Amino acid sequence: MAAKPTLLTIDDDPEVLRAVERDLRRKYGERYRVMRADSGRAALGVLEELKRRGDPVALLLADQRMPEMSGVEFLEQAIRLAPSAKRVLLTAYADTDAAIAAINQVRIHYYLMKPWDPPEQNLYPYLNDLLEDWQQTFRPPFEGIRVIGNRWSPKAHRVRDFLGRNLLPFHWLDLDTSAEARDLLAMLEKGGGGKEGAGGGTLTAPVVVFPDGSALADPELLTLGERVGLRTRAERPFYDLVVVGAGPAGLAAAVYGASEGLKTLLVEREAPGGQAVTSSNIENYLGFPSGLTGQDLTRRAVMQARRFGAEILTPQEVCGARANGEYRVLTLSSGGEISARVLLVATGVQYRRFEVPGAELLTGRGLYYGASMSEGQSCRDEDVYLVGGGNSAGQAAVFFAQYARQVSILVRGQSLAESMSQYLIDQIAAIDNIHVMTGTKVTAVVGTDHLETITIACGGEERTVPTTSLFIFIGAEPRTDWIGELVERDEFGFILTGPDLPRAGGRVKSWPLDRDPYLLETSIPGIFSAGDVRHQSVKRVASAVGEGSIAVQFTHRYLAET
Ligand SMILES: Cc1cc2nc3c(=O)[nH]c(=O)nc-3n(C[C@H](O)[C@H](O)[C@H](O)COP(=O)(O)OP(=O)(O)OC[C@H]3O[C@@H](n4cnc5c(N)ncnc54)[C@H](O)[C@@H]3O)c2cc1C
Repeated sequence: MAAKPTLLTIDDDPEVLRAVERDLRRKYGERYRVMRADSGRAALGVLEELKRRGDPVALLLADQRMPEMSGVEFLEQAIRLAPSAKRVLLTAYADTDAAIAAINQVRIHYYLMKPWDPPEQNLYPYLNDLLEDWQQTFRPPFEGIRVIGNRWSPKAHRVRDFLGRNLLPFHWLDLDTSAEARDLLAMLEKGGGGKEGAGGGTLTAPVVVFPDGSALADPELLTLGERVGLRTRAERPFYDLVVVGAGPAGLAAAVYGASEGLKTLLVEREAPGGQAVTSSNIENYLGFPSGLTGQDLTRRAVMQARRFGAEILTPQEVCGARANGEYRVLTLSSGGEISARVLLVATGVQYRRFEVPGAELLTGRGLYYGASMSEGQSCRDEDVYLVGGGNSAGQAAVFFAQYARQVSILVRGQSLAESMSQYLIDQIAAIDNIHVMTGTKVTAVVGTDHLETITIACGGEERTVPTTSLFIFIGAEPRTDWIGELVERDEFGFILTGPDLPRAGGRVKSWPLDRDPYLLETSIPGIFSAGDVRHQSVKRVASAVGEGSIAVQFTHRYLAET
């Protein structure tokens, strides 16, 4: 629940302090939180804590005569911590001149005379006016996670991408452009309560600040995942079915497996949803005539899988696999192993490395693989370039066109029709700020701290254009390095299954059983594969979902026979 805005009163005289607090509470206690402090220093501490938590402060009511720090001195220093709070000085008659001077010098909004009895006449009417005025301009603060960092830092990009893909709302504070970001970081560095990962008072960005005011500096994704409540450790050492990869294929398998009574574990290295979660609108998925976003599909699928009792570990990467008798054993990169009777490989594909001079250095600093929804806002009013002519590039162009001044799609081929669905081509044609450049390729990317220019070759000519955003959508490499030679793969690394497995003398090579491998079974019995990672699969959400669910049917058959 959103914290009530705070009214803070400060006085070194305990009796007066209690009386002011009582009167404030009586009138405003329902809508505001009333706090007190017995010195200017203590009050600054309270304000720092409120700022760290992102809690709003509506009013500061400080007595002028206090030892160490006067009311005016306190209110002056408080501007930095609670700039929008109304500042009121409580004075004795003798201090009226000082109070009037303070209105000009330190922008005090009002001064009130002691004693203020009866408050109905001498306190509330003035405070009512001030608080009403404050409410007019008050914008409730963001309640969730805040991320402080530099736009061009690959680490910051990774954290934002991770939170975004895991559908965790957050507020991005850019150190280069936001004073709020710099203030908050400075305050955390000064060493407030609850900060973690600090090294000698200096925090390494990116810093993730949680609603309770605590923070993690430059966190590992596993640590961050644990902190935001994701499940990263398996509950049991052994499962009926372990699925590697929580894209559409893996999620479908988890839903069917768990709903049909199998102890099912899904292990995902980044975030559930796979490539689909980066899709801004899936328009060809059955049953959703006006399309649905990849995030929406993922949210529904994750909920469904959990409802049936599937366990989902994320972020948790599988880095090795072996067959040990009837057990299929997986090694996790964070350490530890998990065993299962059946293993389903649904690790999908990733974009191919962009082999252009300078690309390696600028990855995460303006050059990105795939569309990162979290970059949309950052590209506002800028010129964005996309490389690739497939549906994923097309969708990303439509997405970025909402923010960018101009989006240019750079395609090698002579027309989009060679690689993109017609419905997307039509959409793109109807959007004024998308420009398709066919027969082109990027030959160089240049920048020091971040991407600054790209060179585009077209028809034997080259030209260099300024841009800070280049998104790559080329090729699809299977994510199968981790499984090595355990199962048969094709020349590109895609996994061979069922009828595609190599045969010799009418039999599948080195196949130990009397029966043939099932449709989605790999060269090792009890290891199945589904979705984009499979040799010659149809690269579509619906196909991945279909294969994931079919794989569960074969899992039952396999379990029945063993
Ligand atoms: C931008 C974009 C838009 C698209 N739009 C459409 C569309 O409109 N319609 C359509 O039908 N298709 C669309 N597609 C294609 C579709 O998203 C894919 O075909 C589909 O996601 C494939 O699902 P999958 O489960 O096989 O693999 P993926 O979606 O690739 O998921 C694989 C998952 O495995 C995880 N993983 C990989 N290695 C490991 C490991 N070692 N340990 C743990 N986890 C691992 C990955 O992190 C990933 O989450 C789009 C794709 C993109 C990129």
